[in-house]
Amino acid sequence: MAYKKLKKVSWPLIVFLVLLNFGIWVTLSCPHKVGFVLQVMDVGQGDATFIQTAGGRQVLIDGGPDSKVLQDLNKVMPAQDRSLDLVVLTHPHSDHMTGLFEVLRRYRVAEVIDLPVPNQVNSLTRQWDELIASHHIFRVKARTGDRYELGDGSYLEFFAPTPLVTDLNNDSVVTTLHDASHCEMLLAGDMGFPEETQLLASGEDIHCDGLKVGHHGSATSSSVEFLQRVEPRLAAISVGQGNSYGHPNPDTLKRLTGITVWRTDLVGTVTLERSANGTLERQ
Ligand SMILES: [Zn+2]
Repeated sequence: MAYKKLKKVSWPLIVFLVLLNFGIWVTLSCPHKVGFVLQVMDVGQGDATFIQTAGGRQVLIDGGPDSKVLQDLNKVMPAQDRSLDLVVLTHPHSDHMTGLFEVLRRYRVAEVIDLPVPNQVNSLTRQWDELIASHHIFRVKARTGDRYELGDGSYLEFFAPTPLVTDLNNDSVVTTLHDASHCEMLLAGDMGFPEETQLLASGEDIHCDGLKVGHHGSATSSSVEFLQRVEPRLAAISVGQGNSYGHPNPDTLKRLTGITVWRTDLVGTVTLERSANGTLERQ
């Protein structure tokens, strides 16, 4: 009788204790991730960066050279989730832009931020303008200092060259991701030396933990002065395997010495998170 009573009372208790123990083990053994997940996606020779905050805000910055970005989004977003809060186009070159055409067709995009460059109207920019208009997407022209709030104190801040350099790479919209008052990541688009010089002269605080290296690591981006101001601890280079441009350039890689560098042609998609101890880490 006493045994039966004990058996009735104990099993739920034992299950509860086991689950509690497992929960404590999981909590202690896995570093707690907070804030956001940022992916520099492996889209070949091009650029596409996806950001998802802890609160569920989703941002895509550039879309790569083709529809490969859709496969990458399917991996990171739930199948039923067909919406994005924000799409940023850094500049209208096909290696950043073409994948976004399919994104605008297949996802409900609430807002687009870009920097229309006068006298650069071509078939790509015409198609872009038409898609934004036909899908009734709210469009904002990027301006230096503008912020896009992501909730919980985090936000994106933009830099747009003024006056325009008129070379599309150097008219890239540059985005910084901030968590509270701290800059986590600077996304440089295809910015090269001329735009870097303008950004440095603007006096903007660009000190950031991480850097999405400008222009796929080309010889004419990531100057010593620029890297000294950003002072990144880690960097990601979005670059295609065996690309014909010779990206990333060996001299640029030399200038990045001392910074932990992840290349999409070598490791695939680079996923970064901010851990509870406040540092940006690769997942
Ligand atoms: Zn590019």
